[in-house]
Amino acid sequence: MVSRVIPVDTFDLVIFGGTGDLARRKILPGLYRRFQAGQMPEGARIIGAARSEMDAEGYRAMIREAIEEFVPEEKRVNAPLDGFLAQLDYVAIDATGTGGWDRLAEMMRADVVRAFYFSVGPALFGALAERLHDHGIANEQSRIVVEKPFGRDLESAGKLNRTLAQHFDETQIYRIDHYLGKETVQNLMAVRFGNVLFEPLWNSQYVDHIQITVAETVGIGGRGSYYDKSGAMRDMVQNHLMQLLCLIAMEPPSRFEPDSVRDEKLKVIRALDPVRPDDIVRGQYAASGDTGSYRDDADNPDSRTESFIALKVNVSNWRWAGTPFYLRTGKRLKARASEIAVVFKDAPHSIFGEEAGRHRNILSIRLQPNEGMTLGVTIKEPGPGGMRLIDVPLDMTFADALGPEGEDVPDAYERLIMDVIRGNQTLFMRGDEVEAAWAWTDPMIEAWEEDGRRPCSYEPGSTGPEEAQILMHRAGRRWREIKT
Ligand code: NAP
Repeated sequence: MVSRVIPVDTFDLVIFGGTGDLARRKILPGLYRRFQAGQMPEGARIIGAARSEMDAEGYRAMIREAIEEFVPEEKRVNAPLDGFLAQLDYVAIDATGTGGWDRLAEMMRADVVRAFYFSVGPALFGALAERLHDHGIANEQSRIVVEKPFGRDLESAGKLNRTLAQHFDETQIYRIDHYLGKETVQNLMAVRFGNVLFEPLWNSQYVDHIQITVAETVGIGGRGSYYDKSGAMRDMVQNHLMQLLCLIAMEPPSRFEPDSVRDEKLKVIRALDPVRPDDIVRGQYAASGDTGSYRDDADNPDSRTESFIALKVNVSNWRWAGTPFYLRTGKRLKARASEIAVVFKDAPHSIFGEEAGRHRNILSIRLQPNEGMTLGVTIKEPGPGGMRLIDVPLDMTFADALGPEGEDVPDAYERLIMDVIRGNQTLFMRGDEVEAAWAWTDPMIEAWEEDGRRPCSYEPGSTGPEEAQILMHRAGRRWREIKT
């Protein structure tokens, strides 16, 4: 059994797929920012690993270019890039072959934390785990970080869990969902469990419904061949939106520690009702002007894969019975915005009369852009003319409220990688959670694959198909505006 609290004096972090898009755009820039913040221990080493032949100098040049591209110049002051690059090394390795493994074994140092980031396609996860084990590179204190997608259904996720479990204990496996690394998501827990104000109201007696929206403006771009086999349900709902739902719906864990938090999230997933077909809207973006349709982008004229989905989800437990969760996510929508909105019920009786107007309290938790929270509060409209009520926001945009520190909140990836190094699994998904999430999504996917129904078409730059609006209107509710 691995000890999770070894001191982090220094570490060897191997990034398999160290030349790939994710490594260049997110992982290495994130690590550079930690270096800038003085959180990279002296002597820590980051070893890129991929098949391309190059030496350490070549890798440093590649990563210099990536950081210059993805970290704005004004954010590169005060920390010489050369100092960070000096901590990088590289090994040419084949995940499915023999080349490079002995060399990597030689590079590993004794008595430092060893972390292995699997930033490669999921088909290679098993091969990497096996080779790390067989070459004696992973020891009891090693951790592996596994990227999404973690399987494409319950069966494949279960198989992957079992493969990894042959070589690593669950306490060594970090299944990453970068949504959990966002500052606001953690603040959601701080707000819920660090204040007395919200928790007493956090149930079906006071909450009318909850909306979780993750809207993107981009299409499927160059990811067409992957995305077309996946779709919004697998790509976004099963993982990211599900994790957000869990954090909103879960009971207070007894402690903010990995298994207490993950046990509570698992209970939520197991309490989800199957979603009725009438409560699911699937959409596909149409062509517009110069931009092609989803099917053009997927290069599949018959594709029935959804680039948009909206769902009404019931959490069948004492706390949430009768309070639905509405989830929606899609591509080529009107704005890039992610928000969780807790919509409270009306005050039971208006002492001001209906003509004064009524407003609901809404707690809006914004994940992007401008991470922050807003609580809509009803007040009197200023001035004479009787009592008219208006809704004003109590706003806590982190960048405004916290000054320079709020502006510089760590990016999700940098926070999560440092959690791996520190051995803290709280913000990572456990194997049983991932399987439970697939067990919930699989029957829905199977049902629509079987009936072969086409997704509804929607205009790029819109809020999604009209049918998604109807899903809400049926219950006398409205989606919140998607805005940046
Ligand atoms: P990518 O750009 O295609 O990079 C793949 C990397 O894997 C390259 O460094 C490639 O280098 C290496 N590689 C491929 N085959 C290999 C082999 N047999 N042995 C060793 N290395 C091999 O992919 P990516 O976009 O970075 O994605 C990596 C992982 O992160 C995937 O699981 C993806 O689903 C996940 N992910 C990516 C993003 C994103 O924004 N990019 C977001 C979320 C999750 P060589 O060809 O030189 O070997």
